[in-house]
Amino acid sequence: MKLRPCLFLAVLGFVISVSAAEPPWFRRALVGLEVGPTGSQFGGSTNDLGFAARFNGRDIARASKSSGADYLVIWAREGDWAFYNSKLQPKPPGLGDRDVLREAVEEGRKLQLPIIAYCQVQYPSHALREHPEWRQVTSDGQPIDGRVCYRSGYLGYLKQMVEEQLAYGIDGFHLDMVDQGFGAPFGCWCSTCQQEFRAQYSKPMPKGVTWDEDWDRFLEFRYASSERFEKELTAHIRRVNPRATVDYNYHGNPPFSWEVGQRPVQHAVNGDFVTGETGVWGFSALGVGLNAEFYKAATPGLPFQIAMQRGVRMYHDQTTRPLNDLRWELFTLLSHGGFVTIVDKTGFDGGLDPVAYERFGAAFREAQAKRAHFGHTPVSEVGIYYSSRTRDWFGRDRPAEVFQAFQGAHKAMEYEHIPWAVVLDENVSLERLKQFPVLLLPNVAVISDAEVALFRRYVEAGGRLMITGLTGARGWRGEVPAKSSLADLIGAKWVRELESSDNWVRFSPKDLARIDGPLGAGIRPDWSFLIRGPAVVYEVTTATAVGELLKPHRTALHAQDRYNKDWPLSADSPVGPALLLHEIGKGSVLTWAASPDWATASDHHLAETRRLLANGVRFLQPNPRVRIEAPITVQTVVTDDPASRTLRVHLLGYNSPPQTTPAKDRPYVLPVPIEDAPLYRVAVTSREPLRDATAVNPSTVLRRTGNRVEATVNDIHEVLVLSY
Ligand SMILES: [Zn+2]
Repeated sequence: MKLRPCLFLAVLGFVISVSAAEPPWFRRALVGLEVGPTGSQFGGSTNDLGFAARFNGRDIARASKSSGADYLVIWAREGDWAFYNSKLQPKPPGLGDRDVLREAVEEGRKLQLPIIAYCQVQYPSHALREHPEWRQVTSDGQPIDGRVCYRSGYLGYLKQMVEEQLAYGIDGFHLDMVDQGFGAPFGCWCSTCQQEFRAQYSKPMPKGVTWDEDWDRFLEFRYASSERFEKELTAHIRRVNPRATVDYNYHGNPPFSWEVGQRPVQHAVNGDFVTGETGVWGFSALGVGLNAEFYKAATPGLPFQIAMQRGVRMYHDQTTRPLNDLRWELFTLLSHGGFVTIVDKTGFDGGLDPVAYERFGAAFREAQAKRAHFGHTPVSEVGIYYSSRTRDWFGRDRPAEVFQAFQGAHKAMEYEHIPWAVVLDENVSLERLKQFPVLLLPNVAVISDAEVALFRRYVEAGGRLMITGLTGARGWRGEVPAKSSLADLIGAKWVRELESSDNWVRFSPKDLARIDGPLGAGIRPDWSFLIRGPAVVYEVTTATAVGELLKPHRTALHAQDRYNKDWPLSADSPVGPALLLHEIGKGSVLTWAASPDWATASDHHLAETRRLLANGVRFLQPNPRVRIEAPITVQTVVTDDPASRTLRVHLLGYNSPPQTTPAKDRPYVLPVPIEDAPLYRVAVTSREPLRDATAVNPSTVLRRTGNRVEATVNDIHEVLVLSY
């Protein structure tokens, strides 16, 4: 008879342990909404009685739940207003007695919808009006309007504010964000910062942006200001409610640089997970998947959130994108393994656009139905290396030059359908490198001795390294060194950099015969073609040289500095090898003297330049796990589920219609949102024998011959499911 109570207790124990072990909301979340009123961040006036009058937490929670969202991020605080009864900050008068946060939390509880408070951190206008002494200060002692110093009393103020919001029973915070501005004037030289700097370094702060040893310390100190603020705020929230989650909006990825005060890893890991933004409007169509992979690389092993938005061009613009345009972005992000928030800016009065919610509903229901296909182990052939040190000390005040090579390398991999991932200098390890058959260093100018040693161990153990342009060609603080840090790995002496960026390469039939196979594929012999970007003249020591690097013609106009630098001129004479091949241990190093990465992202991109990068990968790794043939308008993501022995190839068909010239900034056109689903053919060849191949979409026509699968697809998103 004793069995029964034991059994009962065992069952009870099981129930309790399940409920205690239930994963937090963000581990189960796939899609969600962030909702805030348009008119926020406009510098609110008490005369705008219509502002947020219909901004209603209950209605928004219901609309979110019925559209299939897994959670709701509701705006609780912006720079001027609180949308709840705060003792620290006023409510917009249009709200009357209502409390939006309470409405959302009460309704969320009924609907089992986690409610996350959106709490603005940056540009706290109201707090700075009350406490002007918390403003950042420039090097010449001028306060910077609107920008807060993260070593000021603002931390204490924000701790009180999060306590107010936690008292509502919210499930977490989205904190937007700890940034120090997006350009000059730079801070912070306030008295607190000066004092703490002196205490730490026994030296005064530099007088300005000096790019020397003093500035190196200043940058560290500045990064530490943001990091310490994030860590202390997170710790405070966890003390008050250990179950409440914390995530910070993140700008450690391109096109953001040191100005913002964030490093890729240092400022991605101070909450429960990272949140980054994306969107064609601000980051390009290629930036969507790149951002997702960047956030993933910055926070290995953690879920990561990406925020996209409802509007055609910009937050608050009150437009609504076509369903297929939303789907393309949403499924691109989900395919890369993130969870996705769509940001909806309501009308000025806080009312919801019914069409937007119909489209969120359609997209979210599809995402939920496809849930089993997301979040598996990425299959990446190439690791694209990103160096924050190079961003800061080679990029300096022109970081776009650094980003161009990194983004061009990514663009080439996308167009050529070579699976890739991002590798970050801050958290790199030999184990991380060994995940990739090929590591690509795209114009990584500043490389430490520790990185050189790591790359060598990677290559000796069988890794293949591909190097472009100015990689290793700068010292620790961006100076021109006596010798390239990678000379021994490259197997050649670094003679000089070309001053020109309109550089050329050429391969003879003999060159192409020597590298018979993938390296010369699609490259016409005896043809000089432009590789826009930096180039280096090498003198071979132990490597094998292939092809020629040619300098460009120069005219009398050049000598007088009257030639348009944006116009490339034709090829002149050879100055060195185009390519160096070097075997070390079990691995090898392939070095391009020019910059096919930089060229691929430039306005003078020839298809051949990016083909060189793809050919290089195929030369180094002749037998990849998955080989994909598809139009360049189709992006692909490959994942593996080893437990069920299932490879998945996600196909994202980008189908932006032709665009007309804009009224301003001609000829720089923005892409048109996608309306139609594309129709295209792909072929996937697996190295492993395939047992079965299916497509998720019933309209896809699929044919398998051995290890090769051909499909005709007519949709924005498709998943080929390959059993091996
Ligand atoms: Zn300060």
